[in-house]
Amino acid sequence: MLAKKSKDSKDSKDSKDLKDLKDLKRKSIEVGGRIGILGGGQLGRMLALAARQMGYRISFLDPSSDAPCSSVADKKIVANYDDIASVLKLGSRSDILTYEFENIDVNSVIALEEAGHQVYPSSYVLKTTQHRILEKEFVRSIGIKTVPFYPIYTPIDLEKASEEVGFPTLLKTAYGGYDGKGQVKIINLEQAQQVFNSLNHRTLIWEKVINFTKELGIICVRDQLGQIVTYPVTENIHVDNILDTTIVPARISDNVADKATEIARKIAQQLNIVGVFCVEMFLLENNEILVNEIAPRPHNSGHYTIDACVSSQFEQQLRAICGLPLGSPKMLTNSAVMVNILGDHKGDRFFGTTEILANDNVCLHLYGKKKAKPKRKMGHFTVLSDSVDTALSIAEETRKKLCWLESKYRRKVK
Ligand code: AMP
Repeated sequence: MLAKKSKDSKDSKDSKDLKDLKDLKRKSIEVGGRIGILGGGQLGRMLALAARQMGYRISFLDPSSDAPCSSVADKKIVANYDDIASVLKLGSRSDILTYEFENIDVNSVIALEEAGHQVYPSSYVLKTTQHRILEKEFVRSIGIKTVPFYPIYTPIDLEKASEEVGFPTLLKTAYGGYDGKGQVKIINLEQAQQVFNSLNHRTLIWEKVINFTKELGIICVRDQLGQIVTYPVTENIHVDNILDTTIVPARISDNVADKATEIARKIAQQLNIVGVFCVEMFLLENNEILVNEIAPRPHNSGHYTIDACVSSQFEQQLRAICGLPLGSPKMLTNSAVMVNILGDHKGDRFFGTTEILANDNVCLHLYGKKKAKPKRKMGHFTVLSDSVDTALSIAEETRKKLCWLESKYRRKVK
C-alpha cells in the first residue's frame, strides 16, 4: 500500500469558530448510543460501518427489505418513508436520527421533531434543500450565484421562462429527482409544453444549460456549536448525469478553491445546518462559480475521504450529530481519484477483484447489492497517489478490469 503521509492542507478547522467553545455545553450521544437512519442505501451502509467502528448501534428504515445497510445494522424497519407510525417507531429506538437520502418525506422528519426526537440535519434544512426552487432561492438570498432559473407552476410560466432564461434549457422536476432522473433538455417552447403536460403540470424548474469548464464539489460539516470543517474542493466528472469520477484536489487555482470553500462555509452558517453536506458547483471560464445544488448528507463525491483523509465524511457525520468534536479533514496522500462502479446489463457477479487489488494503490468498496441493474451504483474504488496524473492513469487501468457477469461465468478460484 502506498505510504500514507500527512500533508499540510488548506482544509480548515476554523479557529475563529472554536473561540469560547469550551464554555458551551455539547449535548453528546455517548458511545454505545443508538443512531437511527432514514434510508438504508450505500450511504446508510457506509455511515453504519463508521458507527460500528465507533461503538454505536444502528437502526434504519428503508422501503426495501434487502437494502445495503441490512447486513451492517442492528435493526431494520421495512416501511415507506411517509409511513409516520414506522418512522416514529424508528424514533423510539434511537437516541439521535439522521437521513441518508434527501427525497424522504419531510413530514416524517417534522413528525419526529414534534415527538421530541432530535434529527440532524433539521426538517428546515431538508425542506429547503430537497426542493430545487426553494434551494436556489435560498442560495441567492444569501448573495451566492446560482444557475439562471425560472420556477414553472403554470403553462404561462413556460412562456415567461423562455423569454427570460431562453434555450437550450433543462426542465427538471422541482422535487424528487437525482442522478439526472427527472430532467430533460429542451430546445423550444413546444417541446417544453409537451414535457409539462406529460408530467401533469408538476412543479418544474427551468434552468439555463451552463457551459461550464469544470464541475466542483465540496464536502463540509458543521456541528451543534457552529464549528465548520471543510474538505478539499473536488473535481467531479459526470457521465449521463451520474457521477463517474471524483478527482482530489480539483485542478483549479487556489483563488477558485478559496472561493468555493467560502461558499460552502456561508451556506453552512446561513442554513444553520448540523451534519455533513455537499455543495455542487459549476466553474465558468471566467472563474465565476455557480451553485448547482446542496445535498444535506454525505455525498458520493466524498467517498474518497474514507481512504484518503484522517476522518471520513461518515465519521464526521456521526461526530456532528452525536455532539462529539469534529475530526480532521486532512488528506493522508497528495491526491485521490474515486471512480464509481455501476451496474451494467451483464450480470450480478463482480469480476476482476484479484486483478484490481493487485495494485496496492487501489481501495475497493462494494455495497452488497444483489441486482446490478444498468447505471445502479454497486460500489466504488479510490486510487491514492502522489499526483493526480498518476492516480488518474491507475484509475483508467483499473476501470478496464471492472465488469459484472452472470453467476455461471464466475471464474473458478484455483
Ligand atoms: P443535478 O441532478 O441537478 O445534480 O444534475 C446532474 C448533472 O447534470 C450535473 O452534475 C451536471 O453534470 C448536469 N447538469 C445539471 N444541471 C445543469 C445545468 N443547468 N447546465 C448544465 N449541466 C447541468
